Amino acid sequence: MPQVIRSAKVYDVCIVGSGAGGGMAAKVLTEGGLSVALLEAGPPLNPDKDFKEHVWPYELPHRGAGVAGNALKPGNGMENEFLAPTGAWTIEGEPYSTAPGSKFRWFRSRIVGGRTNHWGRIALRFAPVDFHVKTHDGLGDDWPITYEDVAPYYDQVESYIGVFGTKENFPSAPDGIFQPPPKLRCSEVILKAACEKVGIPCIPARLAVLTRPLNGRPACHYCGQCGRGCRVAANFSSSQVLIPPAQKTGRLTLITGAMAREILVGKDGRAEGVSYIDKATLSEKRIHAKAVVVAASACESARLLLNSKSSLFPDGIANTSGTVGRYLMDSVGSSGAGYFPQMEKIPPHNHDGTGGMHVYVPWWKFDRQNDFPRGYHIEMGGGRDMPGIGMFHDLCDDVEGYGASLKQACRKSYGTVMGLSGRGEMIPNPDSFCEIDPDRVDQWGIPTLRFHFKWSDHEIKMAKDMQQTFRSIVEAAGGTYLTKTDPDGENPYGIADGGVIIHEIGTARMGPDPKTSVLNGYCQAHDVKNLFVTDGASFVSNPDKNPTLTILALSWRASDYLLEQAKKGNL
Ligand SMILES: Cc1cc2nc3c(=O)[nH]c(=O)nc-3n(C[C@H](O)[C@H](O)[C@H](O)COP(=O)(O)OP(=O)(O)OC[C@H]3O[C@@H](n4cnc5c(N)ncnc54)[C@H](O)[C@@H]3O)c2cc1C
Ligand code: SF4
Repeated sequence: MPQVIRSAKVYDVCIVGSGAGGGMAAKVLTEGGLSVALLEAGPPLNPDKDFKEHVWPYELPHRGAGVAGNALKPGNGMENEFLAPTGAWTIEGEPYSTAPGSKFRWFRSRIVGGRTNHWGRIALRFAPVDFHVKTHDGLGDDWPITYEDVAPYYDQVESYIGVFGTKENFPSAPDGIFQPPPKLRCSEVILKAACEKVGIPCIPARLAVLTRPLNGRPACHYCGQCGRGCRVAANFSSSQVLIPPAQKTGRLTLITGAMAREILVGKDGRAEGVSYIDKATLSEKRIHAKAVVVAASACESARLLLNSKSSLFPDGIANTSGTVGRYLMDSVGSSGAGYFPQMEKIPPHNHDGTGGMHVYVPWWKFDRQNDFPRGYHIEMGGGRDMPGIGMFHDLCDDVEGYGASLKQACRKSYGTVMGLSGRGEMIPNPDSFCEIDPDRVDQWGIPTLRFHFKWSDHEIKMAKDMQQTFRSIVEAAGGTYLTKTDPDGENPYGIADGGVIIHEIGTARMGPDPKTSVLNGYCQAHDVKNLFVTDGASFVSNPDKNPTLTILALSWRASDYLLEQAKKGNL
């Protein structure tokens, strides 16, 4: 029998995962005076080596396109070699499955900071109504907390990580503590004017990118490559903004290459620590702690809870409600593109900016009767910023010639196509959940997840509305709408498969009733009071706003509560 190596030390807290939820918990708990062991499945991150925002194509083995041009294959654009490391749709040795009839894609990252090294930095607050949706329209459930409970933490997070934006007093998109926004690019001026023509508000975007220095981090120098990481940490990642201050306290033990397998439970039903696979030695090790914080990302956290079976918790720890893995949601996503002839005539000038959009459309039809519940916002991209991988492939298919005339054709058409992406709210449904696949294990023998996923008519009608709106914006600008979608088929109105928007949440939701929820309003397990889940698993609904700012705010709030309870000796 393999030997299990136990740590002699008992930490105050063991955290699993170093992304948004885990990084924030590590910072708050260590700064609050607790000793913390942070288990991270991936390797350490060295921004100078791992981030490639200033690397040229000829410096990379496949000019960035990956082995056999992997990144050029449809749907794999986020796996090119320029991007921040170890984020991918497939991780070797770590499979997952989908149930017959379901489609679900799962983008995971294995490195310190997790997917905060990859994210688009769109940082939006939920609105007050987003916390009491059931009261509003009868669907889904209300959260056990209100906007007023979270607002002070939104303030703290924005002030600490740095988010640009503007005060708009827009009901569906609450204002925050903002740095000044960057100037609009000319493509964004065109889109904004078109939106205004059709009565749709288009306001400065809200991104976690510094436009002014903050806490020793410099302002963005507008290289426009946030997806590749940022060596100078002008944008937010847990690896560069949350983990370093936790390390500075001297109370953080960061253990990388540590794949958590099971949460250990004592005879009294309390979490005692975490058992993990040390990837370097393939040995099983144990960390003992007085409290455990799980933040491995919503579905990994559900997997860990479900795999933590004991005589006290035969269906997985903290799962007496049977709801771990249930209520899985992603954002509704549908995209479109338009050709804008006026861009051909724009004189060459500098289009640089942050590595994301500088304008967006907040949900604006909240005061109307729509064909679908809830709402969506619109993200915008394109124009003449730095070309990406494979940008000119189609052009070379369409344009004949070579040398100067081909270059001229490239210059003329480059940046004339701009994209619009809707991000909307999914209503949780009983057909969308994850569970342990009884037939599969990963390379370390840990049972893996199987996904079930289904969009309902609500989401499909929303995707239809998105398509109509995109067309109206493009045509208002005098452009041609290029996207064709089908009302039927596998992806009606271009609705993306589940998981593709990478906003999966809800798998260990909070609620007032231990019979129907896993956590209380402080992300603390109803069943196990020294166990917390501080990633998107706790979400009760998935408003149109991207989830990460709220994960950060809820994790900070849960960590403050944990600190308070620890001081009172309640854990
Ligand atoms: C390309 C991209 C763009 C995105 N854009 C946006 C955006 O603009 N706005 C937004 O709000 N969100 C965006 N997101 C989503 C955002 O990245 C996630 O919401 C956020 O990172 C989730 O934080 P987390 O802490 O839950 O998980 P993660 O950031 O995924 O971190 C989880 C960590 O846990 C580790 N881990 C997993 N399992 C184990 C285990 N068993 N043992 C030990 N460690 C483990 C992982 O290695 C990882 O480091 C985007 C994501 C991607 C990939
Ligand atoms: S655009 Fe700004 S924040 Fe993004 S990588 Fe470049 S310098 Fe960093």
